[in-house]
Amino acid sequence: MKGSREKKRNTVSRRRLVASVIIVTALIVMLFLLVFSMLMGSLETPPRKYAQRIENIGRLSTSERSFLTGEKENSTETADSEKSDSDKVDRSDPYLIIVNRTHELSKDYVPKGLQAVKRHADRTSDETAQLRKKAAEAFDDLTADAQKDGAEIVLTTGYRSYRTQKGLYCYYVSRYGKKKADRMSAAPGTSEHQTGLACDTSSPEVNYELTQKYAATKAGKWLQKNSYKYGFIIRFPQGKEDVTGYEYEPWHIRYVGKKAAKVIFDKKITLEEYLEED
Ligand SMILES: [Zn+2]
Repeated sequence: MKGSREKKRNTVSRRRLVASVIIVTALIVMLFLLVFSMLMGSLETPPRKYAQRIENIGRLSTSERSFLTGEKENSTETADSEKSDSDKVDRSDPYLIIVNRTHELSKDYVPKGLQAVKRHADRTSDETAQLRKKAAEAFDDLTADAQKDGAEIVLTTGYRSYRTQKGLYCYYVSRYGKKKADRMSAAPGTSEHQTGLACDTSSPEVNYELTQKYAATKAGKWLQKNSYKYGFIIRFPQGKEDVTGYEYEPWHIRYVGKKAAKVIFDKKITLEEYLEED
């Protein structure tokens, strides 16, 4: 009797054990399912979320956008890419054109939209008093502001056509021989002045001449300090002869636009070095 009661008690406690194991297992399974469904929910992109991303497509990065639409990447189309590309050098920018002994312009190249600047030397011809519109306007602002600071800056030569450059170069060759002429003047097609973006400047302090003494004048110093604010750079800086191929020319400034000019000024680099940057 005692044994059968004990057996019964054992059976009851075993049933309780089984029941509690089942309950615990069920709880664990439920918990697992809950966690699993939560995880799946966050991993899977619901259609709504996806649609929203498509709507916001203009703000996606270029690679995201092309990934979503299957379009080919185009760096200039989206606001986001404009933002991320703003630090990058836009080599297709016409104001960043490089012209030197290895990058020649054709004899037919005439820049569009030339206009005369307001302040230029008396001897400057109608042709060479001109710059491309944007550069001319920037130069007018520059000279007006310089004047306010007591620095008189004038243009002595802006645009020079292929023909004019050829005449000048031939004159130097006939007078000094080719070797010396090459150091004094650019061969036709290799002068930056043909772009209408470069200008030689001077001031009464050096009798409107092109001389390295200009660097120490009020006008020259003002130019070194401020020209970048108007989109100009000192194109052939001191100590960069090996990069530009030209000796220091404190008078020769070149319009490249404000963005490039600021980077070039801040980093103390040349246009060539700027265009090589990533
Ligand atoms: Zn020049």
